[in-house]
Amino acid sequence: MALRLFNTLSRSVEEFRPLAPPRVTLYTCGPTVWNFAHIGNFRTFVFEDVLRRYLEYAGCQVTHVMNLTDVDDRTIKAAHAAGLKLTEHTRPFTQAFFEDRDYLRIAPAMHYPAATQFVPQMIALVSRLLEKGVAYRGDDGSVYFAIARFPGYGRLSRIETREIKVGARVASDEYAKEDARDFVLWKAAKPEDEAVGAAWDAPFGRGRPGWHLECSAMSGHYLGETLDIHCGGVDLIFPHHEDEIAQSEAATGKPFARVWMHGEFLQVDGTKMSKRFGNFLTARDLKESGWDAAAIRFLFGQTHYRKQLNWTDDALSGADAGARRLGELRRRLAAPGTGTSDALVPLAEAAEQAFRAAMDDDLDVPNAIGGLMTFVREANAALDAAAPTPDAARRALDVFDRVTGVLQVVPGAGDAGDPNGAAAQALADERRAARSARNWARADQLKQQIRQLGYDVRDTKDGGYELRRP
Ligand SMILES: [Zn+2]
Repeated sequence: MALRLFNTLSRSVEEFRPLAPPRVTLYTCGPTVWNFAHIGNFRTFVFEDVLRRYLEYAGCQVTHVMNLTDVDDRTIKAAHAAGLKLTEHTRPFTQAFFEDRDYLRIAPAMHYPAATQFVPQMIALVSRLLEKGVAYRGDDGSVYFAIARFPGYGRLSRIETREIKVGARVASDEYAKEDARDFVLWKAAKPEDEAVGAAWDAPFGRGRPGWHLECSAMSGHYLGETLDIHCGGVDLIFPHHEDEIAQSEAATGKPFARVWMHGEFLQVDGTKMSKRFGNFLTARDLKESGWDAAAIRFLFGQTHYRKQLNWTDDALSGADAGARRLGELRRRLAAPGTGTSDALVPLAEAAEQAFRAAMDDDLDVPNAIGGLMTFVREANAALDAAAPTPDAARRALDVFDRVTGVLQVVPGAGDAGDPNGAAAQALADERRAARSARNWARADQLKQQIRQLGYDVRDTKDGGYELRRP
């Protein structure tokens, strides 16, 4: 694979090599379901979706896990304010998150573990850290991670470890980099926690997990001790991801994630989004205003994921116009070819090559979209000049759908309910090639892999195939 990705851990672009190809394990930190996720959160989730879809396009079998934070300082506070139990408060926001995900055409992860469903695993992890002597029980009854006893602490966020204050503690889930201290793994139960049903019994005292603990416990449960890729927003680098590394690596003695990827912030009209400024945008606001998700994804795609994006109404209208041009070309390509021109074929092949080159370069989606718009101009000119053959039209449409399938920037053509579709399609293409080369063993192997993705492949009389979900 020629894919190169920026790794926050090394601060450099590196060739991506999965631990056990073609399998790729991907863990992405999910929403805190205390309220609706805002469009800045969704910018990160869409970046992760494009990463996942591109890996699948490139032939990887991605196992994607996203957690749902349904117990932490914010959810408890919000449940308390609403006079509800924790689960009563978080349930509708979890549901809203899934609706927004589907609207934005984000392929569903294979697993969405909720923190409250993983308390036994988190208790086991805390016990392990206590046994290893890297965690201790504070005089407030909570359990803390002793960062001075984990030599790698600060490697991801590059904090100066000499500034670490031995024994100084922080009990809140979020805190500043200047305040690197022993962080809380398990918080002793307080009356507010008990009131909303956010307290559990544990051998080291009744309480509830700190925010960072859940990702270490849940990623280990589903994906093993070492992940290929771990993603999140840049705001999670410290303390959340630094603390995840400390908990996981201190427990297992193995590297936690090989590649760390972080999406940058989104600003609205040049200012940080906040309820106070009245520029707090949610996905449902955009849906209610009638925007097609393709326009939003087109807008996101116009700024590289490692740069700050400035969201404006004008930019959204411009992106909507771009997405519509893609939709118009798609309709032209989908019309049956009735002519004799093959001109579309080399144009489509060049477009797919340009797409791959851009995406392999640390997911350069702005460049990939630029290439797509070049293809729109060239293909429209070719179609104006001469009608294509049925074969040329079909081949150009195949390329167009494959490429835009990764970005999901064509209006009204979502396939969010079909997470493995692209990967199954790629394997089926490879199988067809293996069959025409009479490599039956390879073809059978691929058939098994396709089955693992939840599809059945059947050969058709004309040498093609059909993919079906049994
Ligand atoms: Zn996390």
